[in-house]
Amino acid sequence: MSVAIVVGVQWGDEGKGKVVDYLTERAHLVVRFQGGSNAGHTLVVEGRKLALRLIPSGILRAGSRCLLASGVVIDPKVLIGELDSLKDFGVDVTPERLGIAAQAQLIMPYHQAVDQERERRLGDAKIGTTGRGIGPAYEDAVSRSGIRLIDLFSDETLRSLLERNIAEKNLYLKAVLHSDIQFNVEEVFATLQQIRQRLEPFVTDVSLEVARAIEKNDLVVFEGAQGTLLDVSHGTYPFVTSSSTVAGYACASAGFGPRAVDIVLGISKAYATRVGSGPFPSEDLGEAGDRLRQRGNEFGTVTGRPRRCGWFDAVAVRHACRLSGIDTLMVTKLDVLSGFATVKIASRYVLDGKEIESLPTGRGELERVKVDYEEHPGWDEDLTGIRSLADLPKNARAFLNRIVEISRCELAGFSVGPGREQTVMTSPRLRVFGQQTSTR
Ligand code: IMP
Ligand code: MG
Repeated sequence: MSVAIVVGVQWGDEGKGKVVDYLTERAHLVVRFQGGSNAGHTLVVEGRKLALRLIPSGILRAGSRCLLASGVVIDPKVLIGELDSLKDFGVDVTPERLGIAAQAQLIMPYHQAVDQERERRLGDAKIGTTGRGIGPAYEDAVSRSGIRLIDLFSDETLRSLLERNIAEKNLYLKAVLHSDIQFNVEEVFATLQQIRQRLEPFVTDVSLEVARAIEKNDLVVFEGAQGTLLDVSHGTYPFVTSSSTVAGYACASAGFGPRAVDIVLGISKAYATRVGSGPFPSEDLGEAGDRLRQRGNEFGTVTGRPRRCGWFDAVAVRHACRLSGIDTLMVTKLDVLSGFATVKIASRYVLDGKEIESLPTGRGELERVKVDYEEHPGWDEDLTGIRSLADLPKNARAFLNRIVEISRCELAGFSVGPGREQTVMTSPRLRVFGQQTSTR
């Protein structure tokens, strides 16, 4: 066993960063394969908090090397900021610890401007993006005008790409988006010239590194960002992010074949959240939703926006598990549910009078779905100190078991707080990660 992919099965913020951090004690490579600085991982190590957007959480494990694969979009300023904060945190990110695919697309200041100005103009119809330029950067990648990391290191290439792109974006910003923001080729060029020396030592061939690691049977962990339901093809389109978030994209982005994958681990909260616009069938707009937000501290890592909250949605999670080939589920934030008289699970979708098995694809259909809930007795005990399945209060354990059963998965483990020690792995299948599991 050497290749594991970890993805979220909801709308992001499932706690992937923390789980990956926990699981990567023995990983040789930890690879991010999509998204960019729209993602945010908050890690708490020995009581100290660190928020990362781009660099995989594996960076905190001295023995592992972190890679950003070709499908990640990189904002050079954010990356450098992150290198600096890691230094302040006591982690010196040398080129031995971090590698970035030469083909990775760069987020330019004009991508951010287009993202934000477009959203502003959309008003109520906005997607609710993080405003980081993610979508416009992926658009340029596909339209073949993108600037890749490798392009930074040739003055001639960089200048001609900037000239072409900035001319086009300035026109678009002014004429289409009616914005006053304009960019200057020389200014952007000079900024990139200043920072590129710092990035050059990190350039690598991710596909080759992954192939060598697989050959040696080294443990390689792929870390997904966002969640499966935000996938650009399979998610709740158009309210999605601009990249593929399904597990299969790890292969395409890093450049290795699907036969090498040994395990795909799904991460889900014991309830559900969503940031930004879009359908959310099990959303609770009342007191329960507010309570989940407060107790779960459900505010965005990147944007600070309050997250929309609701109940665990089994139909959506089953759908996501199918898309990524998941049969092992890690359930996070179980502690947040303490104190509810009853806890709920969305168990059935009915669309126009008919039960449906998976998420409908037509525009507006998911908004029309009627949801049936199961209601289970709650518990009052504080779970944050629990370190084994056996010590969970009876009702909490029953709820956890029901979540995995209705999702047609096996339980990988659960977590009861942000600390490393609050993650409890229960499945022997996870021994590949080199962690102790408590099967009680
Ligand atoms: P974008 O990725 O900034 O284009 O935003 C598109 C949608 O994805 C918006 O609804 C965002 O709130 C959502 N989104 C993007 N990244 C994350 C994430 O890391 N967690 C949760 N939602 C995200
Ligand atoms: Mg996040």
